[in-house]
Amino acid sequence: MPAPFTPIIGRFAPSPSGPLHQGSLVAAIGSYLSAKAQGGQWLLRMEDIDHHRCRPAAVGQIQRQLAALALEWDGEILFQSQRRERYREVLNELRDRGLAYACGCTRQSLLATAGQCPCLHHPPAQARSFRLAIPKDCLTDWQDRYQGVQKATYPHLAPVLQRADGPYAYLLANVVDDADQGISEVIRGADLLDLTPIQQFLQGQLHYPRPHYGHLPVVLGPDGKKLSKSRGDHDQSNPSWAWERTLALLGWEIPRELVGSPPMLWRDWALQRCLQGQKMLARSFGSPPHEPIPYPDCKQSQELHP
Ligand code: GLU
Repeated sequence: MPAPFTPIIGRFAPSPSGPLHQGSLVAAIGSYLSAKAQGGQWLLRMEDIDHHRCRPAAVGQIQRQLAALALEWDGEILFQSQRRERYREVLNELRDRGLAYACGCTRQSLLATAGQCPCLHHPPAQARSFRLAIPKDCLTDWQDRYQGVQKATYPHLAPVLQRADGPYAYLLANVVDDADQGISEVIRGADLLDLTPIQQFLQGQLHYPRPHYGHLPVVLGPDGKKLSKSRGDHDQSNPSWAWERTLALLGWEIPRELVGSPPMLWRDWALQRCLQGQKMLARSFGSPPHEPIPYPDCKQSQELHP
């Protein structure tokens, strides 16, 4: 286990590809409660590095959704789109140290060769991307706060750090930002479980401290697919119902008298419960931790937001 950090700093780091959906609310509320119940800070970071995927309007929508849920973030919002210089600096360092390499392969050509990339030893005439070189036996098993010990699995293809058309990959930007913001705990959706050992490898190589990781269940739509902001899976429930449904998804028992309360009451009640020892994830979700829920389910909504 990594050493405990002082102070506790958590964060919520949505990619603004659309308004938040029920799965994002699990990560937002879970990360907020965890940080605040420990007397820590909770930061908001817009992971808007990929301009192909992000929608400018979503930045405001997400802020309004969080405010409506009474989730107040500390300090200024960090925008990845304003930090390209920093990512370039780190990518250059990784290249100088032979940990990142120019790759001329397409995804298809790599899949056809079972991930064997000639570019690691024979630099291509034209780079299509920069990829992370992960030496054998360098990914380690790790302990997730909610899911227990996790086996590290090697990715089929060397992960991309920067694409030829410009954007730095989430993998790189996320690790650099967590370190620069002094993040001590990363509470997020279990769709990112597989990426975690790769991020931890990068942290080790860059001599960054390793935050504690806790992954909460992914919410699936009725089609069995993960909800997606860009697909328009907007959480349209009113904020009180959103709190109720999110805590119920995490397995919390909800007192009847709280139903319909303003978000601030839900928040304060939930924080109080955490201080009294309530487990964040109070039920087992099996493996992988997925929770199918009917969506959209706005029958109990009195109003839409935002
Ligand atoms: N930006 C990612 C997303 O919206 C979350 C990243 C993280 O929490 O580490 O899914």
